[in-house]
Amino acid sequence: MSATLAAHRLKRDVVMSERMTVLVTGGAGYIGSHMVLALLDAGHRPVIIDDFSTGHEKLVPSGVPLFRGNVGDSALVAEICDSHKIDAVAHFAASIVVPESVTDPLKYFVNNTVNTTRFIAACVDAGIKRFVFSSTAAVYGNQDVSPIHEGANTQPENPYGSSKLMSEMVLRDSAMATDLSYVILRYFNVAGADPQGRSGQLSQPATHLIKIAVEAAIGKRAAMQVYGTDYPTPDGTCIRDYIHVSDLIAAHMAALSYLQKGGASLLANCGYGHGASVRDVLDVVASVAGQPLDVTDAPRRPGDAAVLVADSTKLRSALGWAPRYDDLHQIVSDALAWERINSQCGR
Ligand code: UDP
Repeated sequence: MSATLAAHRLKRDVVMSERMTVLVTGGAGYIGSHMVLALLDAGHRPVIIDDFSTGHEKLVPSGVPLFRGNVGDSALVAEICDSHKIDAVAHFAASIVVPESVTDPLKYFVNNTVNTTRFIAACVDAGIKRFVFSSTAAVYGNQDVSPIHEGANTQPENPYGSSKLMSEMVLRDSAMATDLSYVILRYFNVAGADPQGRSGQLSQPATHLIKIAVEAAIGKRAAMQVYGTDYPTPDGTCIRDYIHVSDLIAAHMAALSYLQKGGASLLANCGYGHGASVRDVLDVVASVAGQPLDVTDAPRRPGDAAVLVADSTKLRSALGWAPRYDDLHQIVSDALAWERINSQCGR
């Protein structure tokens, strides 16, 4: 190879390592839109594919290339990868409501497992080598040991968890047979909103605790319920590891640069390693909002594990991740600020 060609290739590789074009599936959704913002903030180029089944155009920053469609549409994915020279993908697009997955499991297996399989195949065909995948603590089901380590048995309690676990298997086995490398991130309870107020949760009807509680706090709903007060926990309510969405996205950014540097495929939990009970969360919401919530006790919600807390040692050691917002008050106050912005906009 000539010295000029070698110098050209070196320069190209340096540029590649600095700036990536990243296909963000579900980039118009709650978590995906935060990824798009983080990529822009870091000087990368996000490209979005979203079918708008739950996404919102108002969460898409202007100027970001946006393709309307499903990740299972192989021709569309091939066209995007080709026309935008995609370097990596961050795959968020999925159906995510646990109770719905129990009543309509096929929706979850088709949309999450089948379409993800098609998407992985299209990425492999397009020569994509870096893949960051959103998975979930729901793959663990009920565990006797807390915090939960990645080595724990996977025993999903609902079709949502099963659909994600199967997608993990497809990704792992495909990567073994190709030069695709992945980071699978198993999310615990994602909450909060962009601290700069640029994005947050818009899902209606809300199904997650912190979103419901902040809606109650600003009068968007009259009252709310605590599902189960007889769990084997100190106050009888379920304990979850709530992670700020911006810290979760920081894990994805760390995963991308890890893969960019040639890191081997890995799987890691995303959580802080400590939990809060439902009552703890409601106390913080009332305190941050400055008013009591109208809360009643209700029976257990089917499928809820008593305690779900991540062992996040691997995320910290393998990816060098360190949380910035490990504080329930911060999570709640960002969620509340976002809710207020949106109620003022009449959304
Ligand atoms: N929860 C509750 N009231 C609500 C919504 C949720 O008591 O209106 C409880 C739920 O039963 C669980 C915890 O809050 O114990 C977290 O639920 P969420 O749906 O936010 O997340 P999950 O852990 O189910 O993914």
